[in-house]
Amino acid sequence: MNIILLGPPGAGKGTQAQILQETLGVCKLSTGDMLREAVAKGSEIGKKAEKIMKEGKLVPDEVMVSMIADRIARPDCSKGFILDGFPRTLAQAVFLDETLPKLNKKIDKVIEIHVDDKALVERISNRFTCSKCGAGYNKKTRPTKAEGVCDNCGSAEFSCRADDKAETVAARLKAYNDLTAPLLPYYREKGILYSVDGMAEIGKVTGEIRKIVAGKT
Ligand code: AMP
Repeated sequence: MNIILLGPPGAGKGTQAQILQETLGVCKLSTGDMLREAVAKGSEIGKKAEKIMKEGKLVPDEVMVSMIADRIARPDCSKGFILDGFPRTLAQAVFLDETLPKLNKKIDKVIEIHVDDKALVERISNRFTCSKCGAGYNKKTRPTKAEGVCDNCGSAEFSCRADDKAETVAARLKAYNDLTAPLLPYYREKGILYSVDGMAEIGKVTGEIRKIVAGKT
């Protein structure tokens, strides 16, 4: 089963992709994570992407499609994959439609996580990540069980994403509305678009997504 999770920044795509990766045994491909790794390593792609990401803009399609094509073709994706953060433009979606058949693959379902714009800004400004294992938290909705200690690895070091600052968030939401939201009618027309209420609590959203994946809706 190959799935795309669509939704604005802060909708919970990363959280749900992580849970689904563990429960469905498929691989999670997050282009945001791949870019952040490239930035941390200081690779050529990372150098190009860093400024663009800080401005809340989209990294050029040609960079993104070669990055994702390379990952999808690897053996760990043979059981299926969840795309988190890709495609983000019509050109990226068309690229997938042209490339996947060559690998004997296709997108089975596209799941939109729908969230109010107002809630997004609040969610994004409260989120933080364990610097050691990358586990994601939110000061209001998903705090660590013990204050200042990662539930997953016990580390006490946390960080916030450089692009989660208020001024960047507005640009990221604009990029979503202008360039990514047109993918909704694109996939609706293909008959593979499903939508879940991303305002519900995390476990409920996961349950809804699992029902869709299992074909129970
Ligand atoms: P994310 O973690 O998915 O919110 O992505 C963080 C940032 O990485 C985005 O704001 C973009 O600058 C960049 N990015 C991630 N995925 C893509 C993509 N598919 N196309 C263009 N830029 C991307």
